[in-house]
Amino acid sequence: MKIDIVTLFPEMFEGVLSASIIGRARTSGAVQIGVTDFRKFSTNKHQTVDDTPYGGGGGMVLKPEPIFAAVESLLEQSDTKPRIILTCPQGVPYTQERALELAREQHLILICGHYEGYDERIRQHLITDEISIGDYVLTGGEIPAMAIIDSVVRLLPGVLGNDASAELDSFRNGLLEHPHYTRPYEFRGWKVPDVLLSGHHEKIEQWRRRESLRRTYLRRPDLLERAELTEQDRRWLQEIAAEEGGAPPRTS
Ligand code: SAM
Repeated sequence: MKIDIVTLFPEMFEGVLSASIIGRARTSGAVQIGVTDFRKFSTNKHQTVDDTPYGGGGGMVLKPEPIFAAVESLLEQSDTKPRIILTCPQGVPYTQERALELAREQHLILICGHYEGYDERIRQHLITDEISIGDYVLTGGEIPAMAIIDSVVRLLPGVLGNDASAELDSFRNGLLEHPHYTRPYEFRGWKVPDVLLSGHHEKIEQWRRRESLRRTYLRRPDLLERAELTEQDRRWLQEIAAEEGGAPPRTS
């Protein structure tokens, strides 16, 4: 996969793209990541990339020319049809499902906004997607781009040491993940549930599924309305609701 970031602040990406799993994925060739400073595509002598809004009001708006020119230069070098993603608080809310969809693409271009936002013609005539990472407003699109890249790269084949760890992640099967424990068995008097030491794989899997349902019921009951549940899951959910003294779960 190839990912291109179009930003005014390339230096913000240095640490994030070199460290840990993303750094190793780049070294191994699982992903190629390029950072393009769109200020370099400004044609005016002060290299300005923003201007005051038509109609008045506060804040500066990113001009269309440098962003169009930066993206078009990347398109000229691409032999596929990339997804061109605008980071934007008004975009479609980002989810694990969307990360899985993007991980199947060959080339992504992520545009990072700043200041008041973008000239509307960028939204109307350049991009294929608009993504929001949540209902809050950040100063720029760099952190959203990092979040999107991190969530996509870890899904690429061979990037995580153990591919199964992405399979069980929260949201992957529509539920939150079950709790984890590691050594020591007893810490400050708090013990690990005995079933996890039993060596009985089927019982361990059942415990994990049931605790995944409990966690989802307690923290994100909205997910249960869309999750694929078996009859056994539904029975467990009824038991969990009684154990927790909560309302009956609303399920799909
Ligand atoms: N005035 C804009 C609005 O109300 O929609 C907000 C602009 S914000 C200060 C500047 C840039 O940060 C945006 O263009 C976008 O690239 C990025 N940004 C801020 N919050 C974001 C979010 N929740 N998701 C994705 N990008 C975001």
